[in-house]
Formats: sequence, C-alpha cells, structure tokens
Amino acid sequence: MTEYDFADAHCHLDQCAGGFLPTILHITCGYSQKSNERNAHIASENANAYLCAGIAPQEAMKYPDVKIKLIEWEETIAALPKLVAIGEIGLDYHWAKTEEERFLQHECFISQLVLAEKLGLPVVVHSRDAEAHVLEILGNFNLRCMLHCFSGSAQQAQAAAAGGRAVVSIPPMRSKERRKFIRDLPLVKLLAESDAPYIGKSPSDALEAIKTIAEIKGQDAEAVKKQLLLNTISFFGIK
Ligand SMILES: [Zn+2]
Repeated sequence: MTEYDFADAHCHLDQCAGGFLPTILHITCGYSQKSNERNAHIASENANAYLCAGIAPQEAMKYPDVKIKLIEWEETIAALPKLVAIGEIGLDYHWAKTEEERFLQHECFISQLVLAEKLGLPVVVHSRDAEAHVLEILGNFNLRCMLHCFSGSAQQAQAAAAGGRAVVSIPPMRSKERRKFIRDLPLVKLLAESDAPYIGKSPSDALEAIKTIAEIKGQDAEAVKKQLLLNTISFFGIK
C-alpha cells in the first residue's frame, strides 16, 4: 500500500472530469442505484480505486416507496465489486423540509445501517442540518463510521470519535468549527477527502485538506500525509 502518495477518502469519480492519478488511493462513492453502478465500474477497472455504495438521503426522499425499492437496491449494492463501505447514507434536513421527506430519509438510512451490519462493512455518513439525529441513530449501532465532510459542532465530533468507532473526514474547505475539531481530535481519528467534484475539483484537492490538518496540528506535512493514508487503508480495510 505504500506505493500510494496519499489517499482521497471520499470522491465521486463518475462525476469527475480529471485528476485521477495512479499515486492516489481513491474511495469513489455512489449516491443512487445508477451512480453506484457507474462507480463500481470505475473501481473494477482501476487498481487504486475502491467503492463505497449506498443511497443518499437526497435520493431516498424522491421515492415514496423507498422501502420497497431498497430491497432491490440493497441486493445490487451487496454484489458490487471492490465494495469497502456503505455510503453515502445519512440525513439531510437542508433538502428535506417536510415530515414525509424526512421520514423517507430515516427509513433509507436505517435500512442501510442494518445492511452494513449484515455485510460487516463500515459506513460513510452524510449529514446536513441533522447532526444530532444522525449521531443519535448511529449510537444504536455498533458500526465503524466515517463522518464525511462533517459540519456539526466540535463537541459532537469529539463525542462521536470518543465512542471509538467514528472517524471524521476533512474536506478542502475551511471553517472555524472544523478548525477546532481538527486541533482537538487525535490524528488517527482524521481522514482527508476532496469530495470532488462538489467541494474539490479533483481528487488531488484532498491534498489541500491534508495541508490544513498539518498546519493546524503543527506537524510535518509529509508525516501527516502518510498517517492519513494509513488511517484510510485501515478504516476501509483495504488489503
Ligand atoms: Zn460526496
């Protein structure tokens, strides 16, 4: 694994126009049945890409019959090649305004947490304006989870990581609150991501997140880069 220069713990290669480099370990992530399949195809064709597949909350709320749809979707997800995590899954109250939309997101989130448990895989969690609910639900499961692009409070990040099974993934976007939990969390609890093409333009923008972490922690950037790569390999159980 040491042939990699660094890791991008979360990107969407099916949406990226470029920046796919052989020196980066990529965890490419789907959010719908179709995008899971597109990313699975990319992962199966590239030695340095692994797959995270799931149904995102923004997708879940489009289907009043999501519970029935999930039967087929989850079967497909479980059979995809190079699957190392279930995600991105979670709750997004920024987009879900009505009770019904939030209910559909909940159903979808919980069903896939059960799936991850069954498959013995970690989860990659998206939460927006719903951090307290997401953490409460995760507390009922004994799953390794990566809080992707976490934008809750430093206190919430601390509490989740202290529980033992959560890591926090840092995007190439700075915020005051994020600065606090980067400073306070041990380096082994952190990962770096580009979330390309949504936050970073390409997976190589994970380097920006790595630099930010090194700077805030006052540690050597090369050493931080290596440690975050090891954290990514270990979290996703990449052999
Ligand atoms: Zn993403």
